[in-house]
Amino acid sequence: MYSSSINNLIEALKKLPSVGQRTAERFVFYWLKSGKKEVNELREALNNLLQNTKSCEVCWNFDDISPCRICEDIKRQKETVCVVSETQDLAAIENTREYSGLYHVLRGNINADDTETEIKNLKIEELKNRIKQHPEIKEIILALSPDLAGETTMMYLKKELLQIRPDLKITRLARGLPLGSDLQYADEITLISALKNRN
Ligand SMILES: [Zn+2]
Repeated sequence: MYSSSINNLIEALKKLPSVGQRTAERFVFYWLKSGKKEVNELREALNNLLQNTKSCEVCWNFDDISPCRICEDIKRQKETVCVVSETQDLAAIENTREYSGLYHVLRGNINADDTETEIKNLKIEELKNRIKQHPEIKEIILALSPDLAGETTMMYLKKELLQIRPDLKITRLARGLPLGSDLQYADEITLISALKNRN
């Protein structure tokens, strides 16, 4: 019953994570009622995001520059790489101010029903190449969420990475993060202790 321009936008919004029909409708009618100023602000923010955000060619973090500010920072320890699923997890660990090593963002996890192409889209080959090319890397911290996909990914990575560099120390966050929880929503104190007591 909606016009095609309304329906098109609803369908586009429904592709976003956790947005269903009702939420999409709420957004569209909110913008129609709020008028041009807010829609333009949104358009400008999206344009900026696309134009100014880069994928770090080293760690796959998102930043305004590549290599990103973390990879470029000479004060960071180069021998430890913390592997996370998403940039938001990196941000959660950075917010604790307890970690001074580098990162590697996988851009997802291995799910049980993933196809080979979906697994290839993760930045696993890039991580393998990185540890091959950088013998100064001594420790890999697997900081993935303690849920099924996270566990599957950590087991897979451990096996693959040790094949390339049997001398690597591979650690994971200490237990304490609630099982099945999302790392990026863990509180800071829990995250700090999980990092300090990694094993
Ligand atoms: Zn980087």
